[in-house]
Amino acid sequence: LLILQDKTEFELLKKVKEDFITSVSHELRTPLTIAKGNTQILKDFMKDNQFTKQVTKIEESLDRIENIISQLTLLSKAEFGEYELKKELINPTTLYNEIVKDLYEKIQEKSVKLHFNCQIQSIKSDKFVLYTIFRNLLSNAIKYSYDNSDIYINFLSEQLIIKDEGIGIREEEQKRIFERFYRGAEANNYAKGSGLGLAVVKYLCELANYKIEFESKWMVGTTFKVVFYR
Ligand code: ADP
Repeated sequence: LLILQDKTEFELLKKVKEDFITSVSHELRTPLTIAKGNTQILKDFMKDNQFTKQVTKIEESLDRIENIISQLTLLSKAEFGEYELKKELINPTTLYNEIVKDLYEKIQEKSVKLHFNCQIQSIKSDKFVLYTIFRNLLSNAIKYSYDNSDIYINFLSEQLIIKDEGIGIREEEQKRIFERFYRGAEANNYAKGSGLGLAVVKYLCELANYKIEFESKWMVGTTFKVVFYR
């Protein structure tokens, strides 16, 4: 057992943890890339036969591992203040279109209707940070929506609001949703996930000095709001 005597020791331990996550992530990426590449070859080669379903499952699982690794790396970087924020002019509509392309399969699967309303031409932010916050929140809105329901996305000059009419978050779970690896008790019945998405969103909002808040009612829906301070 390590007894932490002062801040320096604590900082050192944090650094060890960050280095550990970074190197493990790095080591995992190579075999993962090989596995993904070969799965793709298998899939192309087999076309449609009785094993297509199994290979697709392998592919999905590899994508999930890749996603967990990216989010963990990002979290440890952000936590250690090693991520350097850029100031770029971003067009929210272009950003939204990129995210929708990225989430295309999920959107199709659920047949959700997205209503996007944008009132500004540009926003000054770090593209990667804004993309990740926006993507994770929209991805959740889709994941936890009922089939065929509506999702409203409003990009205003000072805030981004994403409103869904999905399963909502139980009151007793609301204080825990930003914790790492925390998943709602019923989340698994609706979608796969790692419980890292909102932890990443929270860290990135802190980093960029944005405020994040939400309102939710079980079985009714959830609204997330990101307030930009500029
Ligand atoms: P994941 O979605 O991988 O479980 P997140 O960190 O993104 O992880 O979210 C944590 C939990 O918060 C989810 O498991 C779910 O219970 C709840 N949650 C997040 N967004 C929504 C939403 N839009 N509607 C309902 N529940 C949500």
